[in-house]
Amino acid sequence: MKLAPRRIISSVLATLSVFAGGSSLAQTYPTKPISLVVPFAAGGPTDIVARTLAATMTKTLGQTVVVENKAGAGGTLAAGFVAKAAPDGYTFLIHHNGMSTAPALYRKMAFNPMTDFEYVSQAVDVPMTLIARKDFPAKNMQELTAYVKANAKSINLANAGLGAVSHLCGMLFQQAMGADLTTVPFSGTAPALNALLGGQVDLLCDQTTQTTQHIKAGTVKLYGVTTKQRIRALPDAPTLTEGGLKDFEVIVWHGIYGPKGTPAAVIEKFGSAVRTALKDPAFAARMADLGAEIVPESKQTPEGLRTWLQSEINKWGPVIRSAGVYAD
Ligand code: ASP
Repeated sequence: MKLAPRRIISSVLATLSVFAGGSSLAQTYPTKPISLVVPFAAGGPTDIVARTLAATMTKTLGQTVVVENKAGAGGTLAAGFVAKAAPDGYTFLIHHNGMSTAPALYRKMAFNPMTDFEYVSQAVDVPMTLIARKDFPAKNMQELTAYVKANAKSINLANAGLGAVSHLCGMLFQQAMGADLTTVPFSGTAPALNALLGGQVDLLCDQTTQTTQHIKAGTVKLYGVTTKQRIRALPDAPTLTEGGLKDFEVIVWHGIYGPKGTPAAVIEKFGSAVRTALKDPAFAARMADLGAEIVPESKQTPEGLRTWLQSEINKWGPVIRSAGVYAD
């Protein structure tokens, strides 16, 4: 029998050792707490999803998943930080549509969403709501439309920075109104909502994960939800399309990413804990109360996230470039 050249044997052994190493790595991982980086201030919609998910994953992983808030630049600061983190399975990022809008908004980017990450899974989809401070003069979309057309520049529209979904929703709202409002950026929509509740800003487009409780308590004014159909969590809330904003739809999706080079066995183990958490009844009930929908299993995979992200980059790029909006 002719022996295969030494190099083929050594490459086969190397591959086997990776798999062997991979499975032994997967058997021991994690051996210490894991950081889940949130690109916005604590208490906001992304943070609420992250902390609920992290607490549920901790039960499966046997190590604490620690949420770290790294706010700034509409979420791109955190994404750049995780892109450069050690690919050892102890630093992950949870981020939303901002991963797909940043390439069109930021001409100088510290990361490339399509090459600097390993993809773990999508998690939940969350509708948005257009709200105002309680004593804002317009009662409904009809009155808001008239008020915006007459008072555009005097209206303060809050957001969480260029690249945030509150910025994207606010940009689409202004395009639909044909009006330029005065935008006021914050480090997340938690501080933005606090400013609105305090009467310092007038309008905010934010996710139901944070606004549902305030809408139900009547502490803010609601104009509509950014979905095609009304949502179970707020059955009496009209859609913005019903209010006259034709086909106005913004759904906030969430992806979980590790730095490029994170071993496949680790991605698989962390991803498996995400999928288990998404099936947890308490997690599902909490998300349902907040208007969030758990994504189908086909999106709870690396490929399900990677292909979705690419399609979103392709979708939002032209929309943002046509608006001529740049963050830098
Ligand atoms: N999702 C962000 C947050 O959690 C807000 C945003 O993107 O507008 O603060």
